[in-house]
Amino acid sequence: MTRVYLALGSNLGDRLANLRAAIASLDERGIAVTARSSAWETPPVPAGQPPFLNAAVAAETALDPPSLLRELKAIEHALGRRPGPHWGSRPIDLDILFYGDVRIETPELTIPHPRIAERAFVLAPLSDITSGPLPVIALAAIDLLERTGLQGAVRRFAL
Ligand code: AMP
Repeated sequence: MTRVYLALGSNLGDRLANLRAAIASLDERGIAVTARSSAWETPPVPAGQPPFLNAAVAAETALDPPSLLRELKAIEHALGRRPGPHWGSRPIDLDILFYGDVRIETPELTIPHPRIAERAFVLAPLSDITSGPLPVIALAAIDLLERTGLQGAVRRFAL
């Protein structure tokens, strides 16, 4: 089993009901929710659409990352989301923030999710449910390393 952190957002319909339905669906699909944040209302990005309610959950799953993503998309679809503008309004949006301590960069998946550190609507719910600061620190380290522009000059050795 791997511990994962997921972000949820809704800005269409009954937003609280959508978040609750998505969390119930996770439990039914082999993604056992162990902690859920409060729901936080945040201004939409970009502006000009209804405000979002955002939440985050911690869960345990035996699904590998691509299977987990497939389940999340199935839940989005079941709750009425249809393909549309990347940043548009939606009844439910589900994102994988962390999958254990794994890093993944494929065309379909980037984990840790690349925008965690710059999005208050992710950080605020996440701060409700992390029992320790480790995941955010791990991400901050990745982010800061990239900003230094030093990657090519840094050598890594297995310890
Ligand atoms: P969105 O419109 O934000 O739901 O973006 C959906 C697409 O982002 C999905 O089809 C995924 O292939 C891709 N994606 C990349 N990284 C992630 C991630 N960590 N969690 C969820 N979706 C991701």
